[in-house]
Amino acid sequence: MTAALSTTKRALDLGPAVELVSKEEGHRQPLAPEFVSAEDFSPLEVAYDFGKVRREDIEAGPKNIWRYKKLLPVPSNVEEIPNTEPGCTRLVRADRLAKALGVKRIWVKDDTGNPTHSFKDRVVAVALAAAREFGFEVLACPSTGNLANAVAAAAARAGWESVVLIPSSLERAKILTTAVYDGALIAVDGNYDDVNRLATQLAAENENWAFVNVNVRPYYSEGSKTLAFEVAEQLGWRLPEQIVVPIASGSQLTKVDKGFRELGELGLVEASPYRVFGAQATGCSPVSAAFRAGHDVVQPVKPDTIARSLAIGNPADGPYVLDTVTRTGGAIEDVSDEEVVEGIRLLARTEGIFTETAGGVTVATAKKLIETGKLDPDAETVLLITGDGLKTLDALEDRIGPRATVPPSADAVRKVLEG
Ligand SMILES: *Cc1c(COP(=O)(O)O)cnc(C)c1O
Repeated sequence: MTAALSTTKRALDLGPAVELVSKEEGHRQPLAPEFVSAEDFSPLEVAYDFGKVRREDIEAGPKNIWRYKKLLPVPSNVEEIPNTEPGCTRLVRADRLAKALGVKRIWVKDDTGNPTHSFKDRVVAVALAAAREFGFEVLACPSTGNLANAVAAAAARAGWESVVLIPSSLERAKILTTAVYDGALIAVDGNYDDVNRLATQLAAENENWAFVNVNVRPYYSEGSKTLAFEVAEQLGWRLPEQIVVPIASGSQLTKVDKGFRELGELGLVEASPYRVFGAQATGCSPVSAAFRAGHDVVQPVKPDTIARSLAIGNPADGPYVLDTVTRTGGAIEDVSDEEVVEGIRLLARTEGIFTETAGGVTVATAKKLIETGKLDPDAETVLLITGDGLKTLDALEDRIGPRATVPPSADAVRKVLEG
């Protein structure tokens, strides 16, 4: 009896999470490191029993995403376990940007302030917390760059091994800022979609590896809800009217919507209407193309854009992005690489925020949506700025620099400034 008891696995504690449910037909199954339903082959999503969640409990929580632990699939004592503690990034009222774009009110959610300087720290922190609960000890991923940083850093902090697969063509900065954490970083000759396929194969072969965006994807993706939670809390517990979200796999966009809905359902905010807009680079715009054509499936493409963190040609959540955008009355647009660089520079010039190419996509797409009348200039709009410009300096190379190089003379400086 005693022996049997001591070998009994203790109950899984993933907080309010109770089951996995398939997105298409709603088949239910126990919480496990699985991502596709064996019943209908659709993605699995976490189902919850939230109970009562109060604003005061959240406000009394830590200044990171664990303040929302009662809304996430993570252990009850998650804040006591080593992780990167991302979140609580600033929401900046961007009046100068709003003026430049000719709209009334814009807020910039500046996720460059996370530990590895992108929103990916949020999803990885949740994936790591859930993976630990499932008994994994290796954190792995295929990545377009930011995920590589986040996984390698989180694994280092947790004392885990990491296996990170990247396309060999990735920006040098993103390679170095991953390699420094000293996990197993492997560059693969191929694009992200090749790397992703390889990861799916390796996940099947290595049962003790938690691939954050493959076998523990249902938990990982819930981390993006914290963007919605923070925006709502920072606005004084209310929802914005419009939000513009960059699309890679599409997970973030669908989960920001899920986060807003949950807040409304739990009575934490008034369930006011909001519209979700999607942003892509034209060189990798399969979801934007499907939206324009009125399709409900997404035709894969071969990416060719400087916005490499968004360069997923076969986005797993593409159809769900189309659902979300259509249901909320939003739209999806795409912008050229030239416009992406303009977007980066516009945000820097007006608000002093330096974003990576993905943020340039968001800003430039917002501009286009305003110009084409799809985004209401009188409604309050949030832009999700998801990554830091220091990681994609290549995009600006040979385009900007000093106004002049002069000898150390006041006269010479004056001459340049006079023009
Ligand atoms: C990964 C990423 C996104 C979008 O991610 P999804 O796969 O759509 O969830 C957006 N911005 C940056 C900077 C990213 O790295």
